Formats: sequence, structure tokens, C-alpha cells
Amino acid sequence: MMSSETTILNYQALLNERKLCAAECPSCKTLMLPPRLFCTKCHKRGTRWKVLSGRGKIRSFTVIHIAATTHAADAPFVVVVVRLKEGPSITARLIGVNPLKPEDIKVGASVVADFEEASGPTSDQPDMRLVFRPYLVHK
Ligand SMILES: [Zn+2]
Repeated sequence: MMSSETTILNYQALLNERKLCAAECPSCKTLMLPPRLFCTKCHKRGTRWKVLSGRGKIRSFTVIHIAATTHAADAPFVVVVVRLKEGPSITARLIGVNPLKPEDIKVGASVVADFEEASGPTSDQPDMRLVFRPYLVHK
């Protein structure tokens, strides 16, 4: 799997293995999320998967009160933009916090990636979805 092409489909397959990966340029080592087949910086082909630590810091967040139909039952929930330790930023849901107390969520706070089953209406084997939760040092 790790040698497979850096496509969105394979990105999801890796998430299903509970791995958060970015595409890495073989030449300049730029990390890309979403993954690309070629480097967005030096245009070199042959990007490869790199498993990320899942650690990062909140850059921004918002509380979704009225969600799209597919996620309506989950509202309210928190969506964060996370700057990963390795560099790229990614958007995902933040769990383990109270969406009705957004004042407790701080920009710059440490978070860690986790994985949740995405409830699909049709699939027998649901995809895993990336989420973040607060990273507690005293855990
Ligand atoms: Zn490059």
C-alpha cells in the first residue's frame, strides 16, 4: 500500500488503516495535503506517501450549528484548521470538546489525530474519517 500512487482514493485507504499520510516530493521533500501526483513546488513526479505524526496546533476553528444534510444529526460540532507538526495544514472535525463552549477552544492549542467511522448509508465497510482531539500532556 505504501508504494501505491498518491491519489485521494489511496489517501482514504490509508485513513482506513488509521494512518494520516501526506504526499512527499522525492526531490525537494515538500509535503502535500491533499496528496498530489507531482510536486506543487518543483513539479517533480513520483511523490510518495509519508506517514505523519498526527500532532499539530489549532490555527483556526468554527462551530457548525446548521450542517449539510449528511451531517445534520451531528450538529453542533467543531471544525478546526490544524497546522501539522510536519508543516501542512488540514481541516477536520474536533472531538472531545463542548461545541457549546467555544471559549474553551484556543488557537495554538495542541491536538492529535484520531479516526472515527464515517457513517455511510450504503457501504458495508464504513470509511474511517480523520478527526482531531485535544492533546493532553498529562494523559
Ligand atoms: Zn518538489
